[in-house]
Amino acid sequence: MPKAKTSKYIFVVGGVMSSVGKGITCASIAKILQSKGFRVATVKCDMYVNIDAGTIRPTEHGEVFVGEDGIEADQDLGNYERFTDNNCTAENYITTGQVYQEVIRRERNLEYDGEDVEVVPDIPNEIIRRIKLASRRNKAEITVVEIGGTVGEYQNILFLEAGRMMKLKYPSDVIFVLVSYLPIPKKIGEMKTKPTQYAARTLNSAGIQADFIICRSEKTLDEPRRDRLAIFCSIEKGNAISNPDLDSIYEVPVVFEKEHLGEKILSKFNLKAKQNDLKEWRRLVKTIKTAEKEIKIGIVGKYFGTGKFTLADSYISVIEAIKHACWYHKRKPILTWIDSAEYEKNPQKIRELSKYDGIIVPGGFGSRGIEGIIRAIRYVREHKIPYLGLCYGMQLATIEIARNVLGLRKANSLEIDPKTPHPVIHLNPYQKKNIQTKSYGATMRLGAYPCVLEPESLSYKAYKTNKVLERHRHRYEFNNSYKANLAKAGVRFAGICPINNLVEIMELVDHPWFVGVQFHPEFKSRPLNPHPLFREFAAACLKEK
Ligand code: GLN
Repeated sequence: MPKAKTSKYIFVVGGVMSSVGKGITCASIAKILQSKGFRVATVKCDMYVNIDAGTIRPTEHGEVFVGEDGIEADQDLGNYERFTDNNCTAENYITTGQVYQEVIRRERNLEYDGEDVEVVPDIPNEIIRRIKLASRRNKAEITVVEIGGTVGEYQNILFLEAGRMMKLKYPSDVIFVLVSYLPIPKKIGEMKTKPTQYAARTLNSAGIQADFIICRSEKTLDEPRRDRLAIFCSIEKGNAISNPDLDSIYEVPVVFEKEHLGEKILSKFNLKAKQNDLKEWRRLVKTIKTAEKEIKIGIVGKYFGTGKFTLADSYISVIEAIKHACWYHKRKPILTWIDSAEYEKNPQKIRELSKYDGIIVPGGFGSRGIEGIIRAIRYVREHKIPYLGLCYGMQLATIEIARNVLGLRKANSLEIDPKTPHPVIHLNPYQKKNIQTKSYGATMRLGAYPCVLEPESLSYKAYKTNKVLERHRHRYEFNNSYKANLAKAGVRFAGICPINNLVEIMELVDHPWFVGVQFHPEFKSRPLNPHPLFREFAAACLKEK
């Protein structure tokens, strides 16, 4: 068999400050190169000692994204999937914790042949091995590697070192992109390049020269600043790429292409575009910009107490999935966050829910705000408002129906009330053991499981197939001993996992559109291919309007 060609590598690092959109930059670069006919892979390097993102609070670093294989990863993998439509797996996600764990495991097994094991080069070497592995597994011609954090901090230095070592070894196969921020201080009213110059130099001091600088700012980059960046950061003039604030992240590839970023990158690698196909993507961007008629969706939940920014990040895949579905119907999504604790304090307020075309209850953990969510679900059930419950949203809908339709007043999930006489949501024996032994890391029910659909169901009508694979991340499950009674009360068990007979989807027979799913469909929604359940939920919102 001919030896597979090695990949080209694009390292993307951040300068000046965090949250300037490295993830979207990586996803957009990957998208552009893919549109030019190249197979791409995207890898996220996270500097945390955590083995995965599963043990990190979502309000800390945003949503925990779950891959098909059950990897609990940084939310950037979600951006990669949404832009490239390539499914990410464990290989696409590298953390400091994983790297050290593997090096120490090898040392314990005498795999270093008696040599001393050193931070440099053994740690960067393991990072390089993992990056190459991701590239091979994805059969990538070009691999985009995002290094978390910002240049100049201690924590990501070994990832930068891995990039430097790769450049040294494969000079014509490795390039660096610096994503930087150019502030426009209000009092001065002028875009400043100096922080970016410092960032480029800090990168230099790690032995790395940027080939491109992505210039995030409120406004577009002008000529004088392009000149200055070229001179002071030692890049070709056309390689300072403007990336102003935009209404939609999906516009970023289009904006990059205005400056021919794809061609410029390919020419660094001595490659030529095999095709140019961003047509459908451009059409989507047009829809996003022109859709006027609205769909009003309320998201009822918790995690809302920590300010707007964290909240959007905690539910990024849900938000994006709603947008994809609304754009499919050529509508503008209007999302409102509703803090369920409000309905506990002031039950009358619940009537405001009738303002919305549909209500979503997303995933969550713990007992805060739960009674308010259950009240909200009762309201949408009784007032026939379209409802989509995601994971916790399905479990809480089950509790609501058990309480208010079956009359089991104390029905609950064992997660919320471990002493409930009616645990309609309970724990499997293996999960009980995980909790008893405090084995929390990567022990939830994770990743893709099959689900067989009931032909008469709303879900079947959405998916138009009888078996689907959906991604999970939860510990608690529907308790099958309540199945018969709930069915009599009007619950349709629309999806069952054939492996373990677990309830995956519940619907209401006597309701225009009420669907609760134990899995997380939001992870599989794509801008050009919205998830069937979100798409049909949005359709129901339009119909019931
Ligand atoms: N807390 C619930 C469980 O662990 C639901 C989890 C979720 O919504 N992702 O089962």
